[in-house]
Parts: sequence; C-alpha cells; structure tokens
Amino acid sequence: MTFHVLPSRPPPPGDSPRLPPPVGDVNSVSSLTIPANVAPDAVSTATAPVLPGRTLGVLGGGQLGAMFAAAARRMGYRVEAVSDHADCPAARTCDRVHVDSLDDPGRLVAIGRSFAAATYEFENIPVAAARALAAVVPVRPGPEVLFTTQDRGREKAFLDRHRFACVSNRMVRSAAEFNAAVAAIGLPAVLKTAASGYDGKGQVRLGVAADMEEAWTALGASMVGTAGLVLEGWIDFDCEISVVAARGLDGATAVFEPSLNLHHRHILDLSVAPSGLPAGIVAEARRTASAILEALGVVGVACVEFFVTRDGRLLVNEIAPRPHNSGHLTIEACETSQFEQQVRAVCGLPLGSTRQTSPAAMANILGDCWERGEPDWAAALAVPGVSLHLYGKSSPRAGRKMGHLTAVAATVDEALAAARLARSRASRGAVV
Ligand code: AMP
Repeated sequence: MTFHVLPSRPPPPGDSPRLPPPVGDVNSVSSLTIPANVAPDAVSTATAPVLPGRTLGVLGGGQLGAMFAAAARRMGYRVEAVSDHADCPAARTCDRVHVDSLDDPGRLVAIGRSFAAATYEFENIPVAAARALAAVVPVRPGPEVLFTTQDRGREKAFLDRHRFACVSNRMVRSAAEFNAAVAAIGLPAVLKTAASGYDGKGQVRLGVAADMEEAWTALGASMVGTAGLVLEGWIDFDCEISVVAARGLDGATAVFEPSLNLHHRHILDLSVAPSGLPAGIVAEARRTASAILEALGVVGVACVEFFVTRDGRLLVNEIAPRPHNSGHLTIEACETSQFEQQVRAVCGLPLGSTRQTSPAAMANILGDCWERGEPDWAAALAVPGVSLHLYGKSSPRAGRKMGHLTAVAATVDEALAAARLARSRASRGAVV
C-alpha cells in the first residue's frame, strides 16, 4: 500500500480547536457514537462512608495497588487485590491476593461481594467486568470513567465535547482514514493505538510522508479487532506537566501541585514539584484538572497530563483514572499522599490537604539500574533527603519500573540533584 498525503485540506494549527470538529467528519473522534453513561446503580450512588475495618478491593496488583494498600492498611482497612499474578507487587502490602483474571465478570462479582468498595490501579480493566462488579459494590471511579479513559479516541471525544483543549487528533480505522487523517492534521504527527498503550508502547512518530508506510506496517496491520488508532499532531512543547486531583463523594475536589515531568525513551524519568512554571499556568492547570474530574464524574483520584506549548497554552495529553507515577513524590512531600487521598475519596471520607510541605523530586528506578550488577542502595540512601521505594519485582528488565527514589530539599533544584545523585550512585553510574 502506498500512502500519500491528500492535498485537499490545509493542515490545521498544531493543537485542537476549542470548537468541535465539523459535523459529519467520519474521521473525527467527536463523531464516534458514545453510549450514554451507564445508569447509576444503587451501590455506586451509596453515600455512607466506608469506614476503617472494612475490606477494600483493588483491581490489579502493580505498584500503584501496592501503595494504595499500604495507605489503606495504615488507616485500618483490610485490602484484597485481584491480579493474575500471585507474586505481584500488591501481594507484599495487601491482606490477600485473589489470583484470577479480571476478564470474567462472573468471577469478579463472586470475589468482590465481600468488598465494601473497590477501586483499580490501572485502566485496562474490561469495562463489562467493572460494570458487573459495580452492581454489587461501589466501584470508584465508576465504570463509565474507565470506559471513557481507557480508549484514546473516547477520551479525546470527551475532551472535545467539554471544550478542554487537547492535541489535534483523528480516529484511524483504515488505510483510507489514515491518509485522510495525515492530510487533515499534517506532519509531524504520532500514530497511537487507541487502547492498551502505555509508556510510549503502541506509538509511532511520523516525521515525513515516507514514514507512513512503516507506521502502518507497525500499527495499522495489526489493528483488526482492536479499538483502532488515533493520529495526533506532534506538539513541539515547552514542557510536560501533570496534575493529580481527587474528587469526593460529595463533589468536593482537592488538587495537588502540578509536577514537571521529564521522559526518557517515552518513559517517565524524573518529576519535580513545584514545577517552576508561571503562577497563571499553574492555576489554569489545577482548574482544568478539577473541571475534568467534575465533567467525568470521578469519585476517586485521577491524573491529567498536559503539554505546555511554547506560547504558554495547556493542551491535555491524557487522563489516568488513578494515582500516577508523577504523584509518587506526594508520599514524602505533601500533607496527604495521592494514595491516602485515593483511600479517602473511594471510601467517601473527607479529602485530605494537598499542601506541599517541601520541594521534591522523584527519579524512577528502571531495570536499567541493574546493568552493572545489584544496585548499591546504601550509597543511594547516604544522600540526604532521599527515600527509597522498591516494588518487589524480581526480574529487572530494561525499561521496567522497579521502584523510585524521592528527594525532598530546600529547593527543587537541590531535590532534583539529590534524586539524580542517589540514582546514579545506586546504579553505579549506569543511569545518570
Ligand atoms: P503518551 O503515552 O500518549 O502519554 O505518550 C508518551 C510520551 O510521548 C508523552 O509523555 C510525550 O513525551 C510524547 N508524546 C506523546 N504524544 C505526543 C504528541 N502528540 N506530541 C509530542 N509528544 C508526544
């Protein structure tokens, strides 16, 4: 198949218009049929708080589930995870792991009947299973939040509908739509799988028209039976930030200080907060994150990632309906961590203060840190202000998130320097 850029339409500016795309444009994600939100069931609208002593369920067994469980157990809850791996990170901090597939609604309902409330730690939970569970226990955030955010096409349609500025984008379900999308959006652009992508997986950047063939071979050919692809305009951004926020059962929101994020090979490498951005941008990012949680009807914690353009505008990149890697520094640096906040929100308790008590930086520890042998944790911990979090994963593969280091210090620059120094020492200079 030969791809060519159709000359019929001039490329639009590199960001999403605040107005919805033209009616009848089949490539527009806004023209997707969005099923009405699932009707709220009796249990998801329950307003009584779930108090300590009760059992909370967490779907997924990764590090986010482990840190949620640690926060919840400290507060006196019992926590049970559902994961397809018995030796998952959450197994180290939960009371129990149900080793089961999350794909089977019947199994999940049988397991979840004993939960007083349930949440999830990743967004690729089958919505049918989450909906079935929500019929017997409150699932927070609700299945409709999962439905919207687990698919880039639906998420962007939601953002467009609510006039939240995001990157220009088009759904792609065929070679013809790919051609038309490139013609509409222009190059450079990035082709992404609509579902199941993370840490840059399922993404191909297109610099020039000649890259289209390769991108299509990589993603288009295998998309049959999947949620399809999304083509996004490439943003020559100034920086990337993320905002973790919570929304309670009563609709109250609490927003953390935005983190400035640095990626390496598409994987989050370093986060710092405060971001050092002008107060106006910080305030707008916080307002937008809060408004997105409100519009989505989130009860729980979610993270909104933004691109900050060179002219100071904020474009939403993506929404995660759960705590986020960039929010790990809240454990040491804020009055309430993102995980305690998740417990409070999911249980219908008052939200905690998000006040940051110290500048902080977080450095991810990937499997790459084992390149020169077992890391020297003692050397890392000799750096003042540094805390170590390891997730208990056994095989340190390159690119795999094994843990993180957080540094608190008098300034963000000092915190960043300390986190990097600690990681460099731990990895014996393999990761700097
Ligand atoms: P994502 O999984 O969509 O968050 O993408 C991972 C990373 O790839 C982002 O954090 C950005 O650094 C980069 N990226 C993704 N989409 C774009 C885009 N449209 N323009 C520029 N960079 C992007």
